[in-house]
Amino acid sequence: MKSAVDLHLHSTASDGRLAPAALVAHAAARGVRLLSLTDHDTVAGLAEAESAARAADVCFVSGVELSARWRGRGLHVLGYDFDPATAGLAEALERLGAARIRRARQIAAQLDAARAPGSAALELAHRATAFPTRTHFARALVELGVARDPQAAFERWLARGTPGHVAGDWLSLEEAVACITSAGGVAVLAHPHRYALSSGARRDLGSEFRAAGGLGAEVAVGGASVAQVDSCVSLAVRCGLDGSVGSDFHDPAVPWNPPGRLAKLPASVRPVWRRFRAQACAFEQA
Ligand code: MN
Ligand code: MN
Ligand code: MN
Repeated sequence: MKSAVDLHLHSTASDGRLAPAALVAHAAARGVRLLSLTDHDTVAGLAEAESAARAADVCFVSGVELSARWRGRGLHVLGYDFDPATAGLAEALERLGAARIRRARQIAAQLDAARAPGSAALELAHRATAFPTRTHFARALVELGVARDPQAAFERWLARGTPGHVAGDWLSLEEAVACITSAGGVAVLAHPHRYALSSGARRDLGSEFRAAGGLGAEVAVGGASVAQVDSCVSLAVRCGLDGSVGSDFHDPAVPWNPPGRLAKLPASVRPVWRRFRAQACAFEQA
């Protein structure tokens, strides 16, 4: 069956704007027939998304986007088709939640020290979530009138080299992969083109990810250019990783990465969802 596949979506369980059931309905209305919910460091939305997917006749695979550190930088590891109740995964998610709360307090303190409304932003962020991401801070800073949009807030106040930048105390790359694979899942390197790495370092990352037990890399990502998709294809081929497709959708008001509108995987990379359970394996990307 040829249908839209989208394996990277966020809900209000992390920094997405739609609740899990509304997100599934939104994606289904755009033709997505195989999807995963991949919230940051939480599986709290999976049960609601799964029952909404069943009602909409959409094939659903469990997912998560884990925060990790590699060579002093933050990066993201996607996990799929795992058992969310696995003890090791639950422990890692608890540790990441605590790290996220510590980081949010530190971001607020550093912004306050730079005469930006950090504490007020943290308070606003906590209205949306117990575990604030930088996206929550960026939206709060816009609401507080110190940036015109979340991107500007990020660049001025939150990115590396700005007053509110705090390196999270995340999992190592190996730990992130291990907590997915030990829960019976498939680990995929998220959006490889987005990390500010030299091409040599990016290849090292791909090789180390593969050596740790990672099996895929995102190749077709929402909003990526043809050149960026090409570079992700080369990385996947060179490192022996399967390819994945995902919009990284957060917000229906953002026009550039709607669910399901993704480049087709080239024949040179195997779709990573061929490794998923039987029903999901059979999908052909439209
Ligand atoms: Mn996000
Ligand atoms: Mn990410
Ligand atoms: Mn994401």
